[in-house]
Amino acid sequence: MTTTSITTAPPAPGTPQRLELTPPAFSDVAQERHHRKERLAAALRLFAYFGYEEGVAGHITVRDPEHPDRFWVNPMGMPFGHVRVSDLILLDDRGEVVEGFYGTHPAPFSIHSALYRARPDIQCAAHSHSTYGKAVAALGRPVEPITQDACAFYEDQGYFDDYTGVVLDEAEGKRLAGALAGHKALILRNHGLITVGGSVDAATWWFIALERACEVQLLARAAGEPLAIEHENALRTREQVGSDFMGWLNFQPLYEQIVRLQPDLLD
Ligand SMILES: [Zn+2]
Repeated sequence: MTTTSITTAPPAPGTPQRLELTPPAFSDVAQERHHRKERLAAALRLFAYFGYEEGVAGHITVRDPEHPDRFWVNPMGMPFGHVRVSDLILLDDRGEVVEGFYGTHPAPFSIHSALYRARPDIQCAAHSHSTYGKAVAALGRPVEPITQDACAFYEDQGYFDDYTGVVLDEAEGKRLAGALAGHKALILRNHGLITVGGSVDAATWWFIALERACEVQLLARAAGEPLAIEHENALRTREQVGSDFMGWLNFQPLYEQIVRLQPDLLD
């Protein structure tokens, strides 16, 4: 069953159509869980579609709506482009697989469990070693407010300036959560990007938007000295384009696109 709020069926001739662009509300926890898993499978397919995969690195997780200390994640070693709803696995608060048929890796548990503990407001976290994010992460500078879109991250990004190797333990996860603080994004020096949100939709959109902002920043800086948007205007723009709802909203066309291209993700 799909719980998407936008119809993908072609309209009947002469029928006026309007897209329902409102985040869904659920009274049934099983329905909400299924919805979150559909969004998560779609988000992973989009990461593959945009080329964010680097071997087995990268994971997107979503909290279980019934057990907030548990989260769903992609199976370790399965290509993002193959993941279906039925492939997702559920980890408990000790990192044990409690639902699903595949294994995982210590990294998603170390990173994501610490983020979820520190941030009760977030439902999803996304991480990968995407190319432009990695390049900006190596330069030691934030994503700058040089475009309207990049303003979503203006004074709303953390920087983890403490690379010590692959994140495999809880202590490092806690330090990552400390660097993220209350922001929607974290740049990990010499590593990559993490984004979070109140839904899979929002966290995934922020990842895509942040990766694009990194790409544009590198292009602009390679060509000259970019003009930054002034502080007050950058803050105002962030209020306009950077809310959790705007993250959710921007994900909707991508969800529709990937479900139409790859409907088996809902299996
Ligand atoms: Zn990583």
